[in-house]
Amino acid sequence: MLIAFEGIDGSGKSTQARLLAESLAKSGVIVELTREPTKEGSAGVLLRKELVEVSHEPDPRYMQLLFVADRAWHVANFILPKINHGAVVITDRYIDSTRVYGAASGLEIGWLTQLNSKFPKADITFILDITPEEAEKRLASRNSKKEIFESKKMLIKLRSAYSRISRGKTGYHVINANRSQDEIHTEIASIVREALKQK
Ligand code: ADP
Repeated sequence: MLIAFEGIDGSGKSTQARLLAESLAKSGVIVELTREPTKEGSAGVLLRKELVEVSHEPDPRYMQLLFVADRAWHVANFILPKINHGAVVITDRYIDSTRVYGAASGLEIGWLTQLNSKFPKADITFILDITPEEAEKRLASRNSKKEIFESKKMLIKLRSAYSRISRGKTGYHVINANRSQDEIHTEIASIVREALKQK
């Protein structure tokens, strides 16, 4: 099973991905926690450098091709091998990040979807939906450097793009992420446990 966490920066993806991994592991499920952009793939390393606010604006098409190249590395070297070993893989960001961030940077959604069409789909995608104000508050206490996608205007655009792409789609769960970590975790864990029972 592949589970993806999506949402704007500061929405709590890495916190919830970790809490879910810990609780599944405690109940004896083999679980692997991972994230994109990767730290190990060479495209991921390049991306992390480009994401930190620099003097020039990187070209959006170049950026999204790097994300997709990193995902190809991630799927081939981590996600598929772990799933084939029977693990539940939890990834902090996946295909929808490319579609949403790419579209918010002015790129065609059709092209972005096509670039991702050969990757395995996530069985469950959690969209952590949070107000940009609350996300900014959380980020302010975390970040030393602002990343290029973290301006208020961009956060508003990204939030509405996430809600658009997930509306009415099977496998998508939009989670109210303005709540406490525990409340959010309880809702997510119960959805995953139910899905594991059906497998
Ligand atoms: P993301 O991975 O989506 O960028 P994080 O999980 O890193 O978000 O969370 C951003 C910051 O907000 C972190 O400092 C984290 O401890 C804090 N945080 C996460 N979830 C909550 C929550 N439900 N309530 C308050 N603070 C939170």
